[in-house]
Amino acid sequence: MLEPVRFDTRLLEFYNGPMQQKVHSISEIEKVELHQHVDGSIPIQLTWQLMKSHGLNPVETIEEMERLLVLQPGEEGTLLSYLDKFQYPQWITQFYENLSLVVEGIVEEAVKNRVKLLELRYSPIIHTYAGLTLRQAIRSVLTGMNQARSRHDIQLGLVIIAMRQQGPHIAKILARQAISEAQHLHKRTGVVGFDLAGAERGNLPRLFKEAYEIARTGHLGLTVHVGEDEGPVCIWQAIDELGVSRIGHGCSAVSDKELLRRLARDKILVECCITSNYQTGAVKRGQEHPIYTFLEHGVPVAICTDNTTVSATNQNQENEKLAGCLSLEQLARIHQEAKTFSFITAV
Ligand SMILES: [Zn+2]
Repeated sequence: MLEPVRFDTRLLEFYNGPMQQKVHSISEIEKVELHQHVDGSIPIQLTWQLMKSHGLNPVETIEEMERLLVLQPGEEGTLLSYLDKFQYPQWITQFYENLSLVVEGIVEEAVKNRVKLLELRYSPIIHTYAGLTLRQAIRSVLTGMNQARSRHDIQLGLVIIAMRQQGPHIAKILARQAISEAQHLHKRTGVVGFDLAGAERGNLPRLFKEAYEIARTGHLGLTVHVGEDEGPVCIWQAIDELGVSRIGHGCSAVSDKELLRRLARDKILVECCITSNYQTGAVKRGQEHPIYTFLEHGVPVAICTDNTTVSATNQNQENEKLAGCLSLEQLARIHQEAKTFSFITAV
């Protein structure tokens, strides 16, 4: 579905510089993915195969399973109904080998979309129901990433998510576990960042200040899901009290001019997830996506998928959605610039 856009690309000075390499199609653009969840991005075929092999399939056919894993048109409109789709993948992602396998599958799909740098994010605590420790739950994902990296030309890193509804104390425990597997401590793919996700209402960012302090001390990059289901006041808190250098979604920032200026001035990147934002109701159908306002105001952005399976999308498709207003060169430039905001350092 095309959304109305009043965006004037002449305003896009930042992204109008000369390109090193001419691109002829979206699939040719080298992409940078900074916001993608493991749980919501497992290829359907792989989820099905693992469910069948464990006798854990809740339905009889892969077509029925697909309807449970992918957000259906009638299910759109709220963040909570979107988050419901994450229930079934968790049946199989409680086991070390499965977690490694699903991560390899996700990386392979990203490679097909010419993603050259991929930060995956994941909350280990919701993968410990079968007895994995937090550290094992983190290592299983890193194992999959390291295996994928040995086969593909792609930079990888893991962002650890604390879930708001589990409260500030659990968030601190997760931050400590995250820094124990920090990329800078090992000569392999590791944890590069810390994030907060889950229902925003009633769980203000400032409650998680100490967890972010731990992550910062451990030299992790800081981002946060914010402004998806709450107003700009939460984004201000995330910047001022958590000290994040990137923001996940941040849709409500467009209603606050002062905040837009702050994001531009301090070069705080917004991880924009076009398809997902319409599905969760963060942006209403028929409204222009905030990414254009961010670009107009000089706020750095990244084009992200959020959840390739739940949202039935991929990097090529997300870029396609913007191609009506932005040239291929501008899209390529957005990815180039987004790379400088990655938490991944050379391994
Ligand atoms: Zn997200």
